[in-house]
Amino acid sequence: MYEAIVIRLFPTKSQAKLLWQNVGTARWTWNWGLSIQKKSYSENEKIFDINELKRKFTEIRNSEEFKWLQEVSRQVEANVLIDLDKAYRNFFRRLKTEKNAGLPKFKSKWKSIPSFCTRSEKVRVYENLIYLEKIGRVRFKAQENLENVKFYNARVKFENGKWLLKCAIEVLPNKSKIILRDLKMGIDVGVKSLAVISCGGHKRVFKNINRNHKMKRLNRQLRHHQRILARKQKSSKNHLKEKCKVQNIYGRIKRKRHEYIQQIARKIINMRPKVIVLEDLNIRGMMKNRHLARAIAEQNLYLLRKLIERKATEAGIKVKFADRFYPSSKMCSNCGHVKKDLKLSERIYKCPTCGKIIDRDFNAALNLERLAY
Ligand SMILES: [Zn+2]
Repeated sequence: MYEAIVIRLFPTKSQAKLLWQNVGTARWTWNWGLSIQKKSYSENEKIFDINELKRKFTEIRNSEEFKWLQEVSRQVEANVLIDLDKAYRNFFRRLKTEKNAGLPKFKSKWKSIPSFCTRSEKVRVYENLIYLEKIGRVRFKAQENLENVKFYNARVKFENGKWLLKCAIEVLPNKSKIILRDLKMGIDVGVKSLAVISCGGHKRVFKNINRNHKMKRLNRQLRHHQRILARKQKSSKNHLKEKCKVQNIYGRIKRKRHEYIQQIARKIINMRPKVIVLEDLNIRGMMKNRHLARAIAEQNLYLLRKLIERKATEAGIKVKFADRFYPSSKMCSNCGHVKKDLKLSERIYKCPTCGKIIDRDFNAALNLERLAY
């Protein structure tokens, strides 16, 4: 599987100088090749084939006059000629169907986006540095984990004042070398607690962050300022000021919730089970209840599920979903008895058959874990 990615480069001053030199040489090579092909085409309606063109280029590269061409990687220049050849072939193909097929154009120092192809096979990553041929190790930032990946079609560009490396990487399956434990996990997500987990029969609870002290205080502040805002005259200065405050607090709450969900998803994956079983959430059913709907939205339950699913897949953990009709809450995890009329308010599951008394959510998590087998 291939993925196109963009890496931001932070070259030093001397590295930036080298990058510009590459850009300049690539542009010069393109324009040189283009003028030769244009001349040939106007004289006998033919262009040189790529190998002839390369031979001609090598000749001038070795000459005294153009010795500076040797300062950049031969591969950079060869890639330009290959690009030019492609451009011409596209032109000839279009010529058959279109009247106004445009010829390849000269590159201008001012109008063209500065770019060049670097040698992909030589690209290597060393922690926060990325090696580019004849440039050296450049500081970089990337969204992706670049450990043990292969690079293809690496092209350096200068766009909007930023140096970028655009390339394709081959995503190797199981690139993260996480060793999974021989454990299954059931996750019951809910309103009272964010998630109750059974992992190999052991219980773990992740709290609902909206119920903690700090979040309650933030929510109080939010409501307070919302009330003030409602009293201010619209589009007055004070209205605007108050609106800023409200948005500010709201943003903080949202960020906190978001961070929390990320953190919990990470913690769950770090337990490294082989299989995770989730409910095929009755979120939709729960959303019909207005009180619940708000609680679910506040808890980002959808996001949690999505993150768990994605991170698990990346780590090579299998994710299973219990179907909608699986009675994970209503069934006794001890004897399998199904309680038909379990109310939402019953926080403790009391089994009438075997007498088991157990926390309702943990009982559900245990039942979900069982589905992994
Ligand atoms: Zn029972």
